[in-house]
Amino acid sequence: MDADNNGYAGRVAICPGSYDPVTYGHLDIIRRGAAVFDKVVVAVVNASVRKVHPLFEADERIALIEKSIEDLTNVHVQKFDILVVDFAREVGASVILKGLRAISDFEYEFEMNQLNRQMAPEVESVYMMASPKYSFVSSSGIKEMARFGGDVGEMVPPHVAVRLAEALKSQSSH
Ligand code: ADP
Repeated sequence: MDADNNGYAGRVAICPGSYDPVTYGHLDIIRRGAAVFDKVVVAVVNASVRKVHPLFEADERIALIEKSIEDLTNVHVQKFDILVVDFAREVGASVILKGLRAISDFEYEFEMNQLNRQMAPEVESVYMMASPKYSFVSSSGIKEMARFGGDVGEMVPPHVAVRLAEALKSQSSH
């Protein structure tokens, strides 16, 4: 194993995403990743290239993830606003770990994979299939469900469900 990872002599993987907010689907991939790699850095997109403004600021998205993974000693959460491959290099990661849900994820990931490979051939992308229980869980889906009063208790940890209800309530009162 090379000791080139910012002085860290283990295999580091990053899990990039917007996590607005974190769901059991994300957490499933993070936990499975933590069992396979020596260290997992959950990389939270700060300035999103997507047009929609996130419901939660980056610092709160990070806090919600941190509270969900308190028991995992080899997982760290950091925000980033540079290219994913540059962030991987910055933290000494040799792997980009992503979860794959349906065909729609595949098409997007296939394209991103080619681009990232071209920019950083030394960083390998690794994909884990979503667990069947969470294969239809997305942050955008749960926000929509919660907005219309749906029960998201099966899809996000309790502390996320509470903040989600509060954030949507204050959003609708503005
Ligand atoms: P979302 O699409 O829910 O907004 P993100 O942009 O935060 O998610 O995605 C971050 C990563 O987590 C992506 O690799 C995405 O495929 C993965 N992911 C998101 N939800 C799930 C899930 N339910 N099961 C497995 N992987 C997931």
